[in-house]
Amino acid sequence: MATGSINVSVENIFPLIKKFLYSDHEIFLRELISNATDATLKLKHLTSIGEASVEYGNPRIEVKIDKENKTLHVIDQGIGMTGEEVEKYINQVAFSGAEEFLEKYKDSAKDSGIIGHFGLGFYSAFMVAEKVEIITKSFKEEPAVHWICDGSPSYTIEESDKKERGTEIILHIAEDEVEFLEESKIRELLVKYNKFMPIPIKFGTKTETLPKPEDAKEEDPAPTQEVDNIINNPEPAWTKQPTDLKDEDYKSFYRELYPMQFEEPLFHIHLNVDYPFNLTGILYFPKMGQDMNIQKDKIQLYQNQVFVTDNVEGIVPEFLTMLRGVIDSPDIPLNVSRSYLQADGNVKKISSYITRKVADKLSSLFKNSREDYEKKWNDIKIVIEYGMLSEDKFFEKADKFALYPTVDNTYFTYEELMDKIKENQTDKDEKTIILYASDKDEQHSYISAAKDKGYEVLLLDSPIVSHLIQKLETSKEKISFVRVDSDHVDNLIKKEDTAISKLSDEEKEALKEDLEKVIPKEKYTVQLEAMDSNAAPFMITQPEFMRRMKEMQQTGGGGMFGMGGMPEMYNLIVNTNHELIGQIRETKTDKKKERLIKQSLDLARLSQNLLKGEELTNFVQRSFEMIK
Ligand code: ADP
Ligand code: MG
Repeated sequence: MATGSINVSVENIFPLIKKFLYSDHEIFLRELISNATDATLKLKHLTSIGEASVEYGNPRIEVKIDKENKTLHVIDQGIGMTGEEVEKYINQVAFSGAEEFLEKYKDSAKDSGIIGHFGLGFYSAFMVAEKVEIITKSFKEEPAVHWICDGSPSYTIEESDKKERGTEIILHIAEDEVEFLEESKIRELLVKYNKFMPIPIKFGTKTETLPKPEDAKEEDPAPTQEVDNIINNPEPAWTKQPTDLKDEDYKSFYRELYPMQFEEPLFHIHLNVDYPFNLTGILYFPKMGQDMNIQKDKIQLYQNQVFVTDNVEGIVPEFLTMLRGVIDSPDIPLNVSRSYLQADGNVKKISSYITRKVADKLSSLFKNSREDYEKKWNDIKIVIEYGMLSEDKFFEKADKFALYPTVDNTYFTYEELMDKIKENQTDKDEKTIILYASDKDEQHSYISAAKDKGYEVLLLDSPIVSHLIQKLETSKEKISFVRVDSDHVDNLIKKEDTAISKLSDEEKEALKEDLEKVIPKEKYTVQLEAMDSNAAPFMITQPEFMRRMKEMQQTGGGGMFGMGGMPEMYNLIVNTNHELIGQIRETKTDKKKERLIKQSLDLARLSQNLLKGEELTNFVQRSFEMIK
């Protein structure tokens, strides 16, 4: 037996490992299984290039709990270690063997999928174990060795009689970490971190039902057998070639990723690059609808099929964190802070690659199956509009496939929309006004007024649309968006009317005075207009600018913070040609007149959905009074 002292630069590294290395103790299992996987993949590589003359076979990794002895075992059938190698790779902490292996077999091994590169992975076992044993036999013709270390920097090493090739790591779980002796805990960790690792992982057994033999009686129970319980899917869809996968394969992989999710994804994007960085993955567009607060943290980040995190902030552009799926890249530095991450050259490239792939996918869907794309528009628009707002590169691309639906469900691209509106625009060089509504029911009367005049009305109803409009107005030339119920519309729709007022200037003056006695000035600006006698007598509009600013405040961003406390201001358009106005003018008693004006105002407010609470109750009461 030999004894020695583990070669560490810091006097006693173990307390450090235990406390500071990883805040999450649970990752020790990920590290040990990564090592077992590496050891197996190394053997695979060596047999494939003829440097190991052993049978590779169908190796697997086994995880076992021994509750009685308070031990957890990780057993592999990989490359194993000779005594010399244990000395070198285990005793010299922070000397990463994986890195050395990759260095040595640089050209042939770069696609072998080997994981380790921190050089401290193995020692994370001491976060949960008070003693660790390694029993290992190399694929080379050399005796097996047994290494034991109790957490102090001294260890013992001796020969062992292990016959089969591979390594068994035995953790003697510490008193305060006994949760790692629970089957349910270990299963949870295996599923979380190792669900898609490339070597099959056995954990316990399960009962499988077999088909009944032909001569079995009706009441005979079907025979069963105990089979190995394999935790992982060693060949997840993202590691395969897109050409080898059908639509159904992508869907079933989605269900594998999100077993609790019943809704199918709308479409997927298969990512696959190996230069200038390595990245594979599949992203899915879920149905999103209007909900901005859709649960994020649904994209999982892997490195060589090992789960790392479901927080991809900084790696995937913000607007795409609403998507789901997997990205796998060994080129993302992990042990750094998020802010450092965002400054990393590779990460920047990865982020813009993903943005480009998403844009390309949307563009091809739009071009190849426009009808289908239009059907999906409502469920994907939030991501696209958000992307247009936040990434200029994406804006440029999305400008070709972002859609602007009308209230009658015709979908225009920006260019098509311009062509359409300009058809009816007399002066083509003049500013183009784009009318839109945000709610078909609420703005119904305004929409029909605009349509009667032959205007195209868009239906823009996503929560960030005011920001997008603002962005379009500043990046495009000579356009202006105007909501159907805003003040600008007066000019567009009503001024065109050739109706001549029946009232003289003095009569108008008197009418205005009467109205302003009843209508609160701080909220409404009264405007007399001579309109068609069929048009509504009272109409409320809101200044486009003010309403939009308010909306932008509510949805945040765009530098709109700190602009709080915008007053609620409306225009009250009074149609002097309407019969009811004549009636108001002719009413003799002040009280009656006041009631008529109040009632008309409330009706106008009601049609704008502005009448609520006590005011609504009063209105209803007053209405009953009037008809009784
Ligand atoms: P890394 O995986 O980054 O190289 P680790 O501390 O996890 O660092 O492991 C150190 C080295 O110990 C490995 O590179 C490998 O050479 C050796 N090793 C660890 N576990 C095993 C194993 N199960 N089989 C064979 N070698 C192993
Ligand atoms: Mg490792």
